[in-house]
Amino acid sequence: MSAESSRRRVIKRVVVVGAGLGGLRTVEQLRRRGFGGEIVVIGGELHPPYDRPPLSKGVLHSDAADPWLRSDEDIRALDVTMRLGEPATGLAVDQQLVLTDAGSVPYDVVVVASGAVPRRVPGLDGLVLRTLDHAHALRAALSAGSRVGIVGAGLIGCEVAASARSLGLQVDLVDVLAAPMIRVVGPVAAPLVADLHTGHGVVLHMGRAVRPSEPGRLALDDGTTLPVDVILEAIGVVPDTAWLADSGLSIDDGIECDAEGRAAPDVYAVGDVAKWAGRRHEHWTNVGAQADRVAAAILDQERPGPDVPYWWSDQYDVKFQGLGSPASDDDAEVIAWGPNSRTVVVYSSGGRLTGVVGFSAAAAVIRLRADIAAGTDVNEILARLTA
Ligand SMILES: Cc1cc2nc3c(=O)[nH]c(=O)nc-3n(C[C@H](O)[C@H](O)[C@H](O)COP(=O)(O)OP(=O)(O)OC[C@H]3O[C@@H](n4cnc5c(N)ncnc54)[C@H](O)[C@@H]3O)c2cc1C
Repeated sequence: MSAESSRRRVIKRVVVVGAGLGGLRTVEQLRRRGFGGEIVVIGGELHPPYDRPPLSKGVLHSDAADPWLRSDEDIRALDVTMRLGEPATGLAVDQQLVLTDAGSVPYDVVVVASGAVPRRVPGLDGLVLRTLDHAHALRAALSAGSRVGIVGAGLIGCEVAASARSLGLQVDLVDVLAAPMIRVVGPVAAPLVADLHTGHGVVLHMGRAVRPSEPGRLALDDGTTLPVDVILEAIGVVPDTAWLADSGLSIDDGIECDAEGRAAPDVYAVGDVAKWAGRRHEHWTNVGAQADRVAAAILDQERPGPDVPYWWSDQYDVKFQGLGSPASDDDAEVIAWGPNSRTVVVYSSGGRLTGVVGFSAAAAVIRLRADIAAGTDVNEILARLTA
């Protein structure tokens, strides 16, 4: 038995920072794998763990329930001490302490799952959407207004645009890039996203930046001024690492970790805050997969098999799904079929499948998971899809 694994048997207390998806999944995986020691979760918000994907979709409708991830009873069953509304203010790695304003919390192992915070547009002072409180504020603003200007046409900006249209608002969607969701789906599929939104009455202002303007107006860099009741800033997020500034951890657009989430001895990171093997993901499914791998590493158990990155997005009646991590210059082939314009964009590099994006094509997308992991010949995939 290695020195590392014999030391692992004396882990008495795991402290998790962040009571979001990554924090909860880490606790669940530790318990599922048989960890019987103490678990303390330190959460910056007062809310128990809730789900974020509904915040840009169903939660914006006035009668929606809050999307709690687990009932109180389920949380109790995990036998975890929840310290909510008590943000961690620092990490003393040498003394193995998480610092908070209420005192320091010793750990044998710490897992950082502090997520990300919205990037802001200088001088704009719009609303943002990351937390449940943000969603409540946006919902109230949308129900009181009739025109929304959304700055940023990424996944969240596009989802809010779709939700706002379904609520009957006029929507102006602005982005400096050439097409909505272009960073997520690539340049070949992005025009399809643009068509979807214009088809539902969203006014797109692509290739445009915003400028500071008077209240009730959204000014663009081509001189256009749009009348708006609500402005949403949706230009992406930055990993929530400010509280770790003095920790000595290596941080560069996320906490730098190895391929199983280890940032330093007995320090792990999962979710949107974590950069594993040089890559940071901001998608729901990835968070659970990372939490499972970290729990296995902490307990020195057999590691789960490799994961193929996956994301989804719901806009109008279309479900977008992406699998794999295609590079922006990978080859792309669009295949459309069926009465409901089911579409799959197949990405490849050197003739090997690297990823796929589907528009309401769930069955076709999910079937390609193993092929992406295996790097199957793309011609074989295209033949299969067009058969
Ligand atoms: C509006 C919205 C819609 C989304 N829709 C989709 C979707 O359709 N599909 C998809 O694949 N993904 C989607 N995502 C992304 C997905 O929800 C995130 O990837 C996921 O929530 C990340 O989980 P996390 O635990 O890393 O971070 P979070 O869920 O952000 O949790 C981090 C928690 O840590 C807390 N925290 C921060 N700092 C501290 C501190 N110092 N001390 C204590 N606590 C702290 C925060 O308050 C927060 O509660 C969406 C995200 C948002 C915001």
